[in-house]
Amino acid sequence: MRPAVVTVERVTLPPGRLSLIGPAVPLPAIAGCVEPQRRLAPHAHFAIRGTIPRTVLRQVAAATYHQVWWPPADEQVYALDRPPVWDNNAAAWVDPDTGEPLTTWADALDALNLQADPEPVHVVRFGRQVHAGGVTPGTVHAERSIGYITKYITKSAADCHKAETDRQRDHLERLWQELRITPCSERCANWLLYGIQPKKAHGRLQAGRCKGKVHQRATLGIGGCRILLSRD
Ligand SMILES: [Zn+2]
Repeated sequence: MRPAVVTVERVTLPPGRLSLIGPAVPLPAIAGCVEPQRRLAPHAHFAIRGTIPRTVLRQVAAATYHQVWWPPADEQVYALDRPPVWDNNAAAWVDPDTGEPLTTWADALDALNLQADPEPVHVVRFGRQVHAGGVTPGTVHAERSIGYITKYITKSAADCHKAETDRQRDHLERLWQELRITPCSERCANWLLYGIQPKKAHGRLQAGRCKGKVHQRATLGIGGCRILLSRD
């Protein structure tokens, strides 16, 4: 059997956990690594054991997507410097002016279900560039391919590419500012900024200071596991 090395480029991921390959077709054993490109979009390489026609790979990539069904988070209701406040008596986050409790997570999901034509808040797809190449074990090409795939495994995401120009530093800053206020999970404190109490809300939440990996500069935009293995 001839192993194939597949590189998949230009993947745009929203915050949160993701499965990069959907279960559209059964795939043989794979190992992969996700790393940021210089423009900070996630980029993935996979080594796949077996022979798969490239046409099938392209079809699978084109048909693979992931939807995130969350309440809308595109319009910020509260500013970071005047967020909702925790009301101990009500055991709820409330509006800082009116004292009215914010929508609960369950109610926000119910509202989503009642919409006539609901849309997922995030849809993730592979980018257009899917490059596949066959590799024969024991060749120089195989060694190079393994080196290429594993190059960034031992580095933290922030060390894959250093921002060297003002433009790159500004880009990093803009992405951080945006992800700082973007909800990363159902329990993210940032939901408060959109008028929603996150799932299992409690009084210690701090909007804009969620500890989720996706918000941190060292792992910006890459919240899930960077090393992907199938163990079949
Ligand atoms: Zn978060």
